[in-house]
Amino acid sequence: MNELRVPALSGLLPEERGLAFLIVRRGLPLALAGISFVTAAMHAAGRGWWMLVGVGALAAAWPSFLRGQAYLRNRTAIMRQDSLWANAVLPLARRLGQEDAWILSFCGYNNQRVRAAFAGHRARRPLILLPHCIQMSRCKAGILDDLQACYDCGLCPVGDYMNAALLNRWEGRITNRSHKAYREAREYRPDLVVAVSCTDRLLKGLTKLPEIPCYVIPLALPHGMCVDTDFSVPHLFAAMEILVEPRRPSGEIQVLRPEGIA
Ligand code: SF4
Repeated sequence: MNELRVPALSGLLPEERGLAFLIVRRGLPLALAGISFVTAAMHAAGRGWWMLVGVGALAAAWPSFLRGQAYLRNRTAIMRQDSLWANAVLPLARRLGQEDAWILSFCGYNNQRVRAAFAGHRARRPLILLPHCIQMSRCKAGILDDLQACYDCGLCPVGDYMNAALLNRWEGRITNRSHKAYREAREYRPDLVVAVSCTDRLLKGLTKLPEIPCYVIPLALPHGMCVDTDFSVPHLFAAMEILVEPRRPSGEIQVLRPEGIA
């Protein structure tokens, strides 16, 4: 029998890069508001309409300023609007060959706000969502049904995750379909989701689950889509360490697990 390993927690979250999305999300409506108010001041004809456009543009920019508890209270409406912006600009970003960069900027902007919202009070009912493709494709361990079926052989990130999840009592799901992950999240009713996925699924997830604050971590695809994918396990651990109320009991338990190979 194997004892659980205690994976090292990293303690630091990487810098989030959301400037490009912020420039579009906040900058465009503010620019439109400025142009509208200047035009209204200079031309009497249609002044009322220009004022109306200016006020509407300010209202569109306003949610991008909300932080902390105000952000959490209005999360659904904010994310619906942010997702609209992200999806509206996506065809242009794709045409410019910047699709992943654009989605990652949206994710980084989202992560900045989630971090700010949980800086004062940590999440108490978090849920981790991981894709099944992080399991090595030739591994026969039935981790979809039982995470502890993993033999912790070290050939994929599942072993490290399993040890940390069991020791820290993290609630998590490994799923092979996006719709299953959304259903699991809605049924569990977490106050925070920490999700790992490829960029297009992260955009889809943030769009489909606007009501749940999600901290998202992108997958690396060294062998292409959906096969032997990888992600930064220290990044996941840091997110759980910083954003989530610790559950690990004092006087650590040593759980025993079956020994074997993948
Ligand atoms: S047994 Fe090894 S390859 Fe299989 S899921 Fe666990 S760590 Fe990954």
